[in-house]
Amino acid sequence: MTPTPFFSDRRSLAKAITLVESKRDDHRQEAQQVLEQILPYTGNSIRIGITGIPGVGKSTFIEAFGLHLIKQGKKVAVLAVDPSSPVAGGSILGDKTRMEELSRQENAFIRPSPSEGSLGGVAHKTRETMLLCEAAGYDVVIVETVGVGQSEYEVASMVDFFLVLMLPNAGDELQGIKKGILELADALVINKADGESLNLAQQSQQHYQNAFHLLQDNSFWTPRVMTCSALEHKNIDAIWEMILEYKKIAQESGIFEQQRREQNAQWMKKLLHEMIDLRLNQNESIRSLSKKLEQEVVQGTCTPYSAAKKIIEKL
Ligand code: GDP
Repeated sequence: MTPTPFFSDRRSLAKAITLVESKRDDHRQEAQQVLEQILPYTGNSIRIGITGIPGVGKSTFIEAFGLHLIKQGKKVAVLAVDPSSPVAGGSILGDKTRMEELSRQENAFIRPSPSEGSLGGVAHKTRETMLLCEAAGYDVVIVETVGVGQSEYEVASMVDFFLVLMLPNAGDELQGIKKGILELADALVINKADGESLNLAQQSQQHYQNAFHLLQDNSFWTPRVMTCSALEHKNIDAIWEMILEYKKIAQESGIFEQQRREQNAQWMKKLLHEMIDLRLNQNESIRSLSKKLEQEVVQGTCTPYSAAKKIIEKL
């Protein structure tokens, strides 16, 4: 555990997160000051992204995994990206009581992360919240996401290790797992490998292991395929060991740091887009010009290209 001067208790951490999530201008500025202050105390955790379709067992898994880590003397933060959006219609994660036992632990911090907001909304707030948790001395930060919208892609781009939870029964298409997600995975974990599903889980494991083998990736890490039972707390320790192994190899080869630096560069670009967007919206004359030009584009009296150009020139 890293000692840190910031956020000595969960309440003050929660308050800082609320500040970071606020949309008020003065709060934004205050939040930026806090973030700059804590920056030297960030980066010391392992950041793990976990995704999977509803019902795969994410909260059961994270609870078992988190409790295991706490037993090892770790402090664990769980940021659940809540995909409540106009498209998804209401909150998916927030309705039920999740991870009850974990949330009772003093060394656990669980927080839903709102996914609302414009461009890069999820990544933005969750990323900053992750930094706050690190400054508060959490050594493992888990970012959970339900595959709705773009959230998994964004989460994959802010973590060190990306874990996809799967069901024992079927291929990825049948599970509604989006194309490309498996390519982002550092590990596939087939959950519910217990009771009658045990055999099926092992078959799935074989199937995915073969698939990854065929990909013949030359990178330093071939994605692992494992099985577990979150309900029976089986193989949870082996999954943590695997993540530690990944961290060791990645750190020794310099890839760990390199990946984080590249993620920072990506984030900078995202922020820039967001700021430009904000500027465009805040400026009254640009807003009215945009409106007018949009009309012209709709009517076909102006091309999208020249309309966009006029707006950018005005900016
Ligand atoms: P989430 O929607 O992905 O967060 O999934 P939950 O953690 O809420 O789990 C969905 C259901 O699957 C619940 O009824 C769990 O009890 C059950 N479940 C989760 N993990 C396991 C497991 O390892 N084995 C079995 N048999 N059931 C599980």
